Amino acid sequence: MNEPSWRPDTLAVRGGVERSQFDETAEAIYATSGFVYSSAAEAEAAFSGDIDRFVYGRYGNPTVAMFEERLRLIEGAEACLATASGMAAVWAALACQLSAGDRVVASRALFGSCTVVINEILPRFGIETEVVDGTSLDEWRNALARGANAVFLETPSNPGLEIIDIGAVCELAHEAGATVVVDNIFASPVLQSPLAMGADVIVYSATKHIDGQGRTLGGAILGTREFIEDKVMPFTRHTGPSLSPFNAWVFVKGLETMRLRVEHSATSALKVAEALEGHERLVSVCFPGLPSHPQHGLAMRQMSAGGTVLTLTVEGGKDDAFRMLDSLELVDISNNLGDSKSLITHPATTTHRRVKPEMRAQLGITDGMARLSIGLEDPADIIEDLEQALRG
Ligand SMILES: *Cc1c(COP(=O)(O)O)cnc(C)c1O
Repeated sequence: MNEPSWRPDTLAVRGGVERSQFDETAEAIYATSGFVYSSAAEAEAAFSGDIDRFVYGRYGNPTVAMFEERLRLIEGAEACLATASGMAAVWAALACQLSAGDRVVASRALFGSCTVVINEILPRFGIETEVVDGTSLDEWRNALARGANAVFLETPSNPGLEIIDIGAVCELAHEAGATVVVDNIFASPVLQSPLAMGADVIVYSATKHIDGQGRTLGGAILGTREFIEDKVMPFTRHTGPSLSPFNAWVFVKGLETMRLRVEHSATSALKVAEALEGHERLVSVCFPGLPSHPQHGLAMRQMSAGGTVLTLTVEGGKDDAFRMLDSLELVDISNNLGDSKSLITHPATTTHRRVKPEMRAQLGITDGMARLSIGLEDPADIIEDLEQALRG
């Protein structure tokens, strides 16, 4: 492999560029599903693997490849495969390596659709799944003592912002012979590097901070060359969660500004959290960057900042939370996150509506809780909007 020696900021702009014969400045969108061959023998050689070239959009595309290569270089991974959505990445990263009779141990606090994959879909295929309190190393140790093929975890978690000790869980998982898959979406490649802490595989929803401007859906899986080529690709080539070239192009350009955007949002998120902590109408402000967060120390060791998302729990219940959301004039009500626009959602009635009430209680997803994703607006405007909405 020929690795450029540039630093991450340079790789974010220059990594993976493949210019066409027209010498364009910005990366091209190759809007094509197929490719032509100069001879029948060339097609034969492409299919036999004797030559490495594009053969069909479901297998690969030059614009998609530029996105994969740029993200791979930023992350420092051996290989990357792009997918049509974050959930396609989560599903492919797990399904490609699991068979009936296998066992998965996962953290309980997950993105809503991930809980459905772990608790409902994988068991339908004869895969045993066990969920643990991700913050308790004793629970991980006990569950992994019974063996596991894969471990799946998300940190910080959605929406409770629990922090899992990636290095410690990887050590326990590897002793048990499990492959560790980390959903690194909340932290983004900018704030946390799970591979350096021992994780085997990272999954992203590019829909979030990688686009970061609310335009397109996509995802990515990163890991060793062996895992991507021998496990992921044989699965995705034939099951078809391919990313469209247009969406890949949006992500290629998104990666160029990702660090600037994520760091700005993370700085603003800390300002908002500090301004609202202790507000008389709030029961709590949860943000990994605040010293009051139960795992603040771990968060600061694992991440370069507290993230771009915080949760606010209002006094009272659903009606009070709804009143605050409805009184906002700047922040939009939306279940998306990692966007240039600040967005707020009520997880109990939206993203985590399908999670059983007992489980919601365990996860701290109360009726008064709102999840706030901080965008690129002036933080003073965001704070003023939240303060007026809390008065309202
Ligand atoms: C959004 C999200 C996903 C799913 O990504 P999509 O692109 O919406 O499919 C998975 N995990 C987490 C933590 C997310 O925030």
